[in-house]
Amino acid sequence: MSKNIDGKKISLEIKNELKEKVDKMNEKPTLVVISVGDNPASSVYVKQKEKCANYIGINYQHIHYDSISDDELINEIQKLNKDKKVNGIIVQLPLPDGMDEKRIVNSVDYNKDVDGLTYLNAGLLLNNNKTLVSCTPNGIMELLKHEKINLEGINAVVVGRSILVGKPMMNLLINANATVTLCHSKTKNLDKITKKADLLIVAIGKKEFIKKEMVKRGSIIIDVGINRVDGKLYGDVDYLDVYSKVSKITPVPGGVGPMTVVMLMKNVIDAYNIQNN
Ligand code: NAP
Repeated sequence: MSKNIDGKKISLEIKNELKEKVDKMNEKPTLVVISVGDNPASSVYVKQKEKCANYIGINYQHIHYDSISDDELINEIQKLNKDKKVNGIIVQLPLPDGMDEKRIVNSVDYNKDVDGLTYLNAGLLLNNNKTLVSCTPNGIMELLKHEKINLEGINAVVVGRSILVGKPMMNLLINANATVTLCHSKTKNLDKITKKADLLIVAIGKKEFIKKEMVKRGSIIIDVGINRVDGKLYGDVDYLDVYSKVSKITPVPGGVGPMTVVMLMKNVIDAYNIQNN
């Protein structure tokens, strides 16, 4: 087996499985993506979602507001919550400055919250209940499953404690019986902790922060970071530096990134099934 974990290839396999699933459905699931304001990075992500939904056969609707108040947006979300034809709702983040992201995201019906960001879905995950899980950590679990990595009892270290990646990642790993340490910017002696990790997952947004001296020989490295510098993408891990020391590693680009959007589509299909069963 290759040392590189090929997220592009694995995500394509899953995408084709999802397409087959949707082909067999009498009714196609529908995803609605809501965006507000003008954020160039968000426009790229919105287009990626549309392309992937079209490929799989999921109905896709993009609602864009140049500007809207929090209350008006919540009102619109509530209408979508009630609409039986809508199965998944995403509020594209970040919202413009001044908008209350938490309040807005939490107005999405948890059964349509295909980003897995509502308090209810986060709480269900914490309690190890079946739920719609945040797409990036869920995609990482798929990569680990694909690579047949036995998580039981292993020493897993997650660096980064965001609601989007680090915290759900920690819960997924705990639920899979790994022993988990969660690190962040205030962690003391980070290198001593990362060096003990059988599985190291890094989501901090700092270009090539993790070096050879910080990783354990033979460990598995999952690099979530996307750092764009002069038009080029870099991970949070110095890939070339650590490569010879580790047993498996996700490249950037082509590792975790391609999994995220596919897991979103999986969530839309799961949401449809939750709503219709
Ligand atoms: P975030 O919300 O900015 O959180 C960053 C986390 O990293 C925080 O918990 C922060 O600690 C921690 N951190 C920052 N500097 C650190 C340091 N020097 N040592 C230890 N911890 C440090 O970021 P995010 O949304 O989780 O995203 C992280 C990275 O993943 C970004 O590059 C983002 O673009 C990428 N990402 C990729 C995907 C994908 O699909 N591949 C999806 C989502 C995000 P504090 O809490 O103490 O501030």
